[in-house]
Order: sequence, then C-alpha cells, then structure tokens
Amino acid sequence: MSDKYVYKFGGGSADGTAVMKNLLGGKGANLAEMANLGIPVPAGFTITTEMCTVYYKMDRNYPSELKEQVNEGVAHIEKVMGKKFNDPADPLLLSVRSGARVSMPGMMDTVLNLGLNDTTVKGLAQISGNERFAYDSYRRFVQMYGDVVLDMKPESKEEEDPFEIIMDRKKKEVGAKIDTDLSTKDLGDLVVQFKKLIKDRKGIDFPEKPEEQLWGAINAVFGSWMGARAIKYRQLNDIPGDWGTAVNVQAMVFGNMGDDSATGVAFTRDPATGNNRFFGEYLVNAQGEDVVAGTRTPQPVNDESVIGEGQVTLKSIMPVPYKELEAIYLNLEKHYMDMQDIEFTIENGKLWMLQTRTGKRTVQAALKIAVDMVAEKLIDEKTAVMRIQPEQLDQLLHPMFDPKKKKVAVVLGKGLPASPGAATGKVVFHADDAEEMAAKGENVILVRIETSPEDIGGMNAAQGILTARGGRTSHAAVVARGMGKCCVAGCSDIVINYAKGQFTAAGEIIKAGDWISIDGTSGEVIKGQVDTIPPVIYGDFGTFMKWADGIRKLKVRTNADTPGDAKKAVEMGAEGIGLCRTEHMFFEGDRIIAVREMILADDEAGRRKALAILEPMQKSDFVGIFEAMGDRPVTIRLLDPPLHEFLPHDEVSQEEMAKEMGVGVEIIKEKVESLHEFNPMLGHRGCRLGVTYPEIYEMQVRAIFTAAVDCHKKGQKVIPEVMIPLVGTTREFTLLREMTDMVAAEVKKSSGVDFNYLVGTMIEIPRAALTADEIAAEAEFFSFGTNDLTQMAFGFSRDDAGKFLKVYLEKGVLASDPFLTLDQAGVGKLVEMGITKGRSVRNKLKVGICGEHGGDPESVKFCHRVGMDYVSCSPFRVPIARLAAAQAVIEED
Ligand code: ADP
Ligand code: MG
Ligand code: MG
Repeated sequence: MSDKYVYKFGGGSADGTAVMKNLLGGKGANLAEMANLGIPVPAGFTITTEMCTVYYKMDRNYPSELKEQVNEGVAHIEKVMGKKFNDPADPLLLSVRSGARVSMPGMMDTVLNLGLNDTTVKGLAQISGNERFAYDSYRRFVQMYGDVVLDMKPESKEEEDPFEIIMDRKKKEVGAKIDTDLSTKDLGDLVVQFKKLIKDRKGIDFPEKPEEQLWGAINAVFGSWMGARAIKYRQLNDIPGDWGTAVNVQAMVFGNMGDDSATGVAFTRDPATGNNRFFGEYLVNAQGEDVVAGTRTPQPVNDESVIGEGQVTLKSIMPVPYKELEAIYLNLEKHYMDMQDIEFTIENGKLWMLQTRTGKRTVQAALKIAVDMVAEKLIDEKTAVMRIQPEQLDQLLHPMFDPKKKKVAVVLGKGLPASPGAATGKVVFHADDAEEMAAKGENVILVRIETSPEDIGGMNAAQGILTARGGRTSHAAVVARGMGKCCVAGCSDIVINYAKGQFTAAGEIIKAGDWISIDGTSGEVIKGQVDTIPPVIYGDFGTFMKWADGIRKLKVRTNADTPGDAKKAVEMGAEGIGLCRTEHMFFEGDRIIAVREMILADDEAGRRKALAILEPMQKSDFVGIFEAMGDRPVTIRLLDPPLHEFLPHDEVSQEEMAKEMGVGVEIIKEKVESLHEFNPMLGHRGCRLGVTYPEIYEMQVRAIFTAAVDCHKKGQKVIPEVMIPLVGTTREFTLLREMTDMVAAEVKKSSGVDFNYLVGTMIEIPRAALTADEIAAEAEFFSFGTNDLTQMAFGFSRDDAGKFLKVYLEKGVLASDPFLTLDQAGVGKLVEMGITKGRSVRNKLKVGICGEHGGDPESVKFCHRVGMDYVSCSPFRVPIARLAAAQAVIEED
C-alpha cells in the first residue's frame, strides 16, 4: 500500500489517469483524464479507495498523514482557482463527491457548496454581486449537509424529506411555484429554519467551521460505503465490499448564478436506441441533482433531444457554451472510444465538465453503437464483440407485445420510452411489495411517482417500472436500462395516490393488484394483460453475431427434443443437437399408454410387444428432428430417467390408469411400490435400464437407425450420434455398444442402405471421468453431463439443494450456484481430467458439454479453455453461448 492517499487534478494536468479506476474510482479517474486532456474541469483532488479500506480497518479512523495530504489538496485547489477556503471576502466553495470503481447510480450522495457559513455567505454575495445566488447556495448546502452528513434523510419513501417540507411550506407561504421563484430573503429564512431543524432533531449546532464541514463530508462519503443501500446494490451486482469508494473534493462551479448559468446531463448517443445523436437535458439557474430529481421539468439541449411542445433548447439560448459542449463530447467519444454519459455546468456562460463515464445503455443500443463504431473506425470488430455481455443478449430474444392484441387494448397513457421491452404484471406501489409478491412468483409492475436508490430491490424484482415523473436520464430510466428492465418513465398521464393505493389515468382507476402492461419501446401504458409474441431480430444483431462466429473456435449446439425446438435453435444459430432427450417423447399423447404397458409387463415378451407399438412413433420423431437439422449432427441420448417417473403416484390417476389398462388398481399400486426408490437420482436409470432391459434401448436404437435410413433414401446423409447415459464402468458401455452395432448391422442389411453413425457416452458420474481413458478406447465421443456430474461431485441432490444453497451463497461457502455456473475448481477438474485421459487414447475424441452450464457464459469460456469441441444449450441461450465462445478466444490473446 502506498502512502499517497491524495491525487490532485485541474489546472491543465492531473496526478492520475483514466486507467487508475481501481484506486481513484471511476469518477476520480475520469476527472483526472479530462484534466489531462485539457478539458475545463474544476480543480480538485481524489482521496483513494485504498483509504476507504484503511478507514474501516482502523475502525473509522484515518492514518495521521491523511490530514496533511488533504490540506495540500485544498491548497492546490486554492492556487488554481485563485480563492481561499474560508476566506470571508471571496470564499472557495467545495463539492464532496463519492465515486467507486464502477458507477453505482445514486448510491452515494454529493455535498455541494461546502465552505459556506454565516460569514462567507456574505462574502460570496458581495463578490458575485448576486445575493440571491449566495443564499440559494447556502440553503442547498445546509439541506444537503443535513440529509447526507447528518443522516436526516427519511428512511422510508412515505416520509418526506424534512427540509423539503419546510421548503414547500415556504413556497406556499410566499406563493412561489418553483424554487427559482423564492427571493433572497425567503432563502435566508430557509437557512435559519433548516439550522433550527438540525438543532431540534440532532441536538447539535450546524458546523460553521469549513474545515469541520469538510471532514464531516469526507466521513459521510466513506460511511455511505457501508450503508444499507450501497450494500444491497453491491449484492445485486456482485461488487466486492473491499473495493471501497474514493472521495472527490472539488472546487464548486455554479449553475445557479442566474439566467446565463445552467446545469445538465447528456449522452453522446441515444442510450435507448443507440442512434448516433447527442442527447441531453438541462436546467437554467440550477444546481446539482435538480435535473434528475424532477423538481422542475428539464429542457432539451438540442433539437434532437426535444420530446414535447414549447421546449427551449440549450443550443438556442446559450449557443457558445453549447458549441463548446459539442466539441468536448466528440473529443471524449473519440478518446474513450465509447458512448459517454456526461455532466456539465455552465457558470456565467462558461462551460465546465463535471463528469464523464461510459454510458449505460440497453442491449439494443449497445449492439447498434458497437456496430456503428466499427463502421466509423473508432473500434475494431474484436473490441465490438467484447462490448456486450453475453447474458445481455437474453433481453433481445424475449417476447414483445402482440401488435394485434395491443391494438384493441385500452391505453391509459403514454410516457417516455426509457428502457425497451414488454412487461405485464400486477400493479404495486412500493418496492417492498414488489419484492414480496415477486418472491411468491407473481409478475408485478412497480409504479412510482419517481424512484430512488431505496427502490432498487423492488425494481429488480419487478417485471417493469412505470414512473409518473422524471426524464430519460432519471433514476428509474438509468437503473432500468442497466438492469435490462422494461421502463416507462415520466408518464404524467397517470396520477398516483399512494395513500389510496391506486392511480388514475384516462378516466380509469387502477388499484394495487390490477393488471397493467407497459411498453418500454413505445412508452405506452396499457390496461390489463397484453399477450406477447417472440421478438423480431434485426440487422445489427446479425452483423454482430457474424463477427463473434468468425472469432470463436467452439461449436455451439442445442438441447432440443422436438422438431419445433430444433428449428428455433437453428434460427438462433445452433450448429447441431448436443442433447436430444428421448424420454420427453414417451410422455406425448397415446404413447404414455404404451410406455405404461411396457412397464407393467411381467416379462420380456410383454415388454417387446408394448415397445413395438412405440417404435414407429419414436422413428417418426427422429425423422422430424433429422429433417429440421439438415446435415447438422444430432446426438440422441437413450432413455435416462427411472421408469417410475412414467407412472402416476396419486390415487385418482392410478385408478384412471387401471381403467385404461384394464387391470385392477392394486396391480398399479404394486408396480409403483416395486419401482419405488429411496434415491431415484442414484437409482435404476440411464444405462442401468439398458443393461437390465436391453429391449428398451434396442427399440430406441432401431428407431434411430431406421429413421436415418429413411433420410438417406431421400438424399439426406444423416450421421446419428447415439449417446449412452450414466456410464460409470467401461463394461456398461461396451455391452450397449455391442447391442447398438448389432442393431445397426441388422438395419443396414434389411434396408440395403449403408450409413455411418457414432456411439459415445455421457460423462456424468465421477468414476467415468476418473476412468475416461478406458472408456474412450471404446467410445467415439464424450458429452459432459455437468448437471449430474455436479450433483455427484458435490453430493448435492439437485432437487433438494435449494434449501441450503441459498444460505451457502449468503455465507460465502460457495461463490455461485454450481448448478448454474460450473464449479471450475472441483467439477471442472473432473472435466479436464476426463478430456485429457480420453484424448490420451483417442486423440480425435469429440468432446462436448450438455448440462445447463453449456449456456452459461463463464462456463462456456471454461469449455473453450479446456479444449472442448462444442457446447450445447437450450435454443434461446445459443446466441449467448456463441458470444461467450468468441470472447473466450479474445480474452486468451
Ligand atoms: P452522482 O454520483 O450521483 O452522479 P455527482 O458527484 O456527480 O453524483 O454529483 C451530482 C451532481 O452534483 C453533479 O451532476 C453536478 O451537477 C453537481 N456537482 C458535483 N460537483 C460539482 C461541482 N464541483 N460544481 C458544481 N456542481 C457539482
Ligand atoms: Mg447522486
Ligand atoms: Mg454524477
């Protein structure tokens, strides 16, 4: 750990740079970078994230050298800005801002105008010649100091901010509509009342000494790192607690100095669609969070950002700073080679930049921006491919509203299309309710006047978010886009009444619990439940995926059991079937009757009779799948589950079955009992069935080969891959392989058609991985069944593990659910060993994975690293796996 805790910036240079995000936090690193680029940034300094960790290690104390370094930092600001902190004539004012490595929207609060007190406010009024401005700044400071540093912000959303109550009362008293209507005297009164409130509530005097104010604010920023909201956000986003936050202390610039001053936020491209247009909002004579807080309606920075009638653009009223802003945003995009989210303030016509960061965007926008930036030669294809997290693609592939159903629906209102998608659910007004109902499996839409960081848990739990206030840069919009959640923001057509638990719109009353649908792409709010249809996948997606496909080495197959799924998967880019489960075919329609007859039969002859009924059905299933897959490889797994899964377990169904089969119910009961197992997952299933009842597998294999023959006759050269499940010993495999070869020879002979086929096995029992060299001498391919392999390696029953896995994750016993993300350290070792041993005797051994992990990006990357040939996953996850496989290659470079 270094002894340098304070990094200065401003005045044309900086100690730090953009790459120092871990140490300086995102905000601090980018402020430094902008200063280095010669962009006008108010001078300041950053106290490192390391200090945050030290602070907690020292039980909320600082090492002695910090004080001196902070004093030097303040001196640096004083020098650059030509003002002195605590100077009664011309005071330097500071902002104290938090900033972790990654942006945590709204998590940490900023304190502005620090350094004001009853003396310095007079100096500020004098030197600025603007008394109103001085007192506006002062009342803001006292309020923010109370809220943030003295922790007077209300806990629940129902309570109002105590300072806001006083402010509203004042506005009413003097007939002010908005805060800019308040006079100097009103603002001075507010300061007095605010201080009294602090005294009453906290029993302390508002600190007049600027130095005390500064340390109070620094403590508050570090303190907020361990606040409940920040902890919750970190949990949701997998951010380690030991990263810490930095503190940025910076000279104030003032957007509230009058009508030639303003403050605003902007995106260098449209964060919802990705369109290449500069897009932003601003407020004249305002400061800080006024723009996003929704207290006054922000105005568009340029014509491209206009969304309503009668709006006034920044470009039209302040053309000079606007032009500068344009030059800076272009410069920043070029420099960072990515879309930026920027904050700026104009003080008396002079533009200052306060923040830049990589802008959050929807996945639609991310795709468009990545593809556009390649065309603009800002980035190359590999960089573009790294710009999207594979998991995000999921959002593109999800349903949208059926336009026909939408046409006839009742539209309650229209807000801003803040984050695209379609969501339908029951109305809830509180984040807690959203979490509670979602936990019960209900779909909910969180409806709020506006959202704040307290609502994050509820936003995450909801299907979609609807707000009555706020723009496309409001908290709701930004967070929803980050989460990939559908959001309609600023829908002023709805009037929310929290107390009554309802909202009114278009003459209708919608109560909590009523269904609504929201369209984040159009902004519409619709009454009731609107049906959804599969999404339309458009151009940029195709281009982007082609790049990924050009890079990746792993093949991506799908798990599909029906021709329909197979077709869907091919559309998603699947290059074959890695797992076709045949048991699903046993349940369909009349088949279950034949299956049950087979199970009930007393002897082999009886079983064969029932199986003969099933065979043509199985065969036609395989023909359908082969046809859907064209010349792509298809791996078919022979019957895997224990037979009792095909029998009914409740009395009523047993009686029905008895009737159907024409036997007494006691026969059924006896059979169910005789098949009962204490631990079916470790019981009579997989190849154990094949060994004990060879006729079942025989029928399946014959159906596969005769289906292949039919396809061959039509000119389609199918090469079926027969997969034997649950092999633990080589002998199991060779027994069944011999049977398969025999059936193949018979089918070839009787049909006169010669065809190729492969026989391989699943590696899903630890013993199979340990003896993979023996097995590979006989098997032509391996497919790692990592669901069972995980289950057996850990000794966790997949069906029961839910009970303790949650606690395991909470207590950090496991870092992630091993059934979702492959446990590389343990199960992964078995996989690696299986591949190495297998290939040691058969160097061309084809190896794949067909567990759920085949669609999990981290696990896919692992599969690439250990040299698998393919992964196989469900149809909708195929694009995710394709992208993850490409990123695995790039990450290796
Ligand atoms: P957040 O992390 O929530 O974005 P910031 O630290 O960026 O918080 O502060 C919020 C707002 O406060 C900024 O957008 C800006 O308007 C205002 N602000 C912060 N620092 C300054 C400053 N030095 N001068 C003027 N305004 C500032
Ligand atoms: Mg904030
Ligand atoms: Mg900010």
